[in-house]
Amino acid sequence: MVEAPLETLIQEAGLVVVGTVTGIDVVAAGPHAPRWTRLSISVDESPVDRSRAAPANGPLSVMLPGGSLHGVTTVVAGVPRLELGDRATFLLERVGEEWMPLGYRLGVLPHWGGGSGWLNGYTHLTALTGEPVRWATACLTYYLETSSSADLVRGDVESALTAAFEEWSSLATAYPRFGYGGATCGGAVGVEPLEPRNIILWREEPGSWEHPIRVVALTSTSIDDATGFIVDADVEFNGEHQRFAIDGASDAFDVRQIATHEVGHMLGLDHTPVEAAVMFERTDKGARDNYVLHADDVAGVEASHPLSLAPQTPCGFGPAYPQWEPLCPEADRGCAIGSPAAPALFLTVLMVGALALRRRWA
Ligand SMILES: [Zn+2]
Repeated sequence: MVEAPLETLIQEAGLVVVGTVTGIDVVAAGPHAPRWTRLSISVDESPVDRSRAAPANGPLSVMLPGGSLHGVTTVVAGVPRLELGDRATFLLERVGEEWMPLGYRLGVLPHWGGGSGWLNGYTHLTALTGEPVRWATACLTYYLETSSSADLVRGDVESALTAAFEEWSSLATAYPRFGYGGATCGGAVGVEPLEPRNIILWREEPGSWEHPIRVVALTSTSIDDATGFIVDADVEFNGEHQRFAIDGASDAFDVRQIATHEVGHMLGLDHTPVEAAVMFERTDKGARDNYVLHADDVAGVEASHPLSLAPQTPCGFGPAYPQWEPLCPEADRGCAIGSPAAPALFLTVLMVGALALRRRWA
């Protein structure tokens, strides 16, 4: 989700160029790290202002999140999938030594070539086959990284997140249900080595936000290429460059507003052109108009997660940990804030089921 409209981005871009993709390199630090795609761009022209054209010293390098590697594809809503030879318009800004898109879809505009691609409703993230992606399980556990938002107390963040997840969980016509697993540490995005954990985290440290500054929050949804099922979804909030609030403050983004949108991406929804929908890609500081799903949002998740495809396994919501004992499987790698909860708690959670779990941890 981004804050600025396209017209603003064009004015603010340090570099606006049309280029052709001459190289694609998917990179990840390891088999489970988040995937990034490095594009080499041969610059053709600057369509807006020649003074902002690229210096003629070889191809530009532009990094986009997501990519397919080791049998797992990570997708980020709105990030165009470009092929070798594709032409696109790039709105870029200088961040350190790199040129970075001002947004993703709004900063990298593919030339669709026909003009027939206008949409009138919800879209889905897709697997390599082009099929909409979905979860194989109905019961999804999310965790909040221990440091949370620097602008808010942790309990307020948890309440806002709970409300956002509940908005999608309470749909009677789609099967996914979310349960809060408590605090976790490590903040890894991607398919974690020890278990898939869906993590909500704030990037607060200088240099920790790896995406365009104007992107308020971003969800990385990872898909098993063999099955087309979503195996992991992690949400990063841009605490380094943006302020967050829960009271509608006009200089901050509302946590529940942003989270409700990002949960849609965790469920495999992409953006919609319907401006009143939660899954519209842009929002404003202080806005709190996306707490309730629009009919277009509901139709989107109903299409990808219909009750007819609901798995029969009962919801256990995975391991549950109290807030004062964060789940830290990275403990042996230096992140040792606490130890997992006693098995008795896990059993209790299995017994009481979804409704009681939500009430208890709301
Ligand atoms: Zn989005």
